[in-house]
Amino acid sequence: MAEIKTQRLDGYRRLIEIARDLASTLDLDMLLQRIVHAAAEVSGSEAASILLYDNLTRQLNFQVATNLDEPTMRGLVVPLDNSIAGWIVLNRKSVRLANVQDDPRFFGHVDRMSGRPTESLIGVPLITKNKVVGVLEALNKEHGKFTEGDESMLAVLGSQAAVAIENARLFQQSDLISEFVHELRTPLASLSTATYLLLRPEMSREQQEQIIHNIHSETLRLNSMASSFLDLARLESGRVQFRKTSFNAADLLFECKDIMNSKAEDEDVHIRIEGSESMPPCEADRDKLKQVILNLLSNAIKYNRPNGSVFMSASATEPNVCMTVQDTGIGIPEEAIPHLFEKFYRVHDAEGNPSGTGLGLSICRQIVQGHGGRMEVKSKVGVGTSFTVIIPRSGKTTPVR
Ligand code: ADP
Repeated sequence: MAEIKTQRLDGYRRLIEIARDLASTLDLDMLLQRIVHAAAEVSGSEAASILLYDNLTRQLNFQVATNLDEPTMRGLVVPLDNSIAGWIVLNRKSVRLANVQDDPRFFGHVDRMSGRPTESLIGVPLITKNKVVGVLEALNKEHGKFTEGDESMLAVLGSQAAVAIENARLFQQSDLISEFVHELRTPLASLSTATYLLLRPEMSREQQEQIIHNIHSETLRLNSMASSFLDLARLESGRVQFRKTSFNAADLLFECKDIMNSKAEDEDVHIRIEGSESMPPCEADRDKLKQVILNLLSNAIKYNRPNGSVFMSASATEPNVCMTVQDTGIGIPEEAIPHLFEKFYRVHDAEGNPSGTGLGLSICRQIVQGHGGRMEVKSKVGVGTSFTVIIPRSGKTTPVR
């Protein structure tokens, strides 16, 4: 008896240490990793996982687990009905089961994808400010059975984790919002100057038309900045789920070429696709990857020269698929390359250069990394640039290094 009490006291001491650690972590990905490791530790289980609840779509998205290949599982949608995690969200109660396979609510999809059977389980709701943010699950007790003590330890950890998740999200959003507001100042100032000038009596008709044209393109840019900003905010908060299907990467390039052809013609740029129609299929979120390729292609046209070219190609190796968009444009100075994927970063931001938001490449990188992939850039000023997207071909492989 005395031994059990000491064990529990040690456990609670450990919980206090963990709580401090969680409270000081504002990076959401790192925080989720720390929570699942702590959950496995305090409950003495083989593995633990977190699902985050999106109350806009009313869906639960699998986020991280101690024992699984993260990019494969991330974003996997677990239904609210017919799943234990869904039951926990809807009933705001924890669950302790000795054998999940016997439970009619058990949603076996995660097991099937991971190839690791779950036997016993404790799941607790993550609730903060009366809002369910997700579910924390401990899977397979290492020795013996899950006890009531394990359940209450996990519940305490869950309540600390929920607060920490909410704080990390708020921090991330406030960081992003302050950057956004900062970026809004310049276009708003130029719009205000433009309207002031329009009201000056000495402006000729021609000058007025030019100003109106500038106002129009600046408002279009602000609009696209707002949409990109929302895209990025959703991607950064981990709320975007990737809906993977099997498709041919070369077909995707042809489709993107068709969409951008008329823009390329307007800019006097020729798009060519090289080879490889007989590619093996890849598994990924086709719409999201289309967004990536369209963005790269749009840049390759925008930062090109008259009579320039864009070459696109797709290739597959055993674990990966690569898609390259190469242009004969103005190029990017070496010192700018490390900053390219930063939010709002623009190399060619001077007057007379193509307009943009500086968010496109950040979005591309978030999507590619969400697939466990990476992006490569090669560029030479005055010669051209190539961007390559590399992602695991089967949604199941380990991250690309
Ligand atoms: P933007 O909306 O400004 O195009 P991106 O995030 O897509 O934003 O790109 C960031 C910056 O990287 C661009 O402003 C541009 O200076 C540079 N860049 C991107 N793609 C190319 C390219 N193909 N050639 C030259 N510069 C590029």
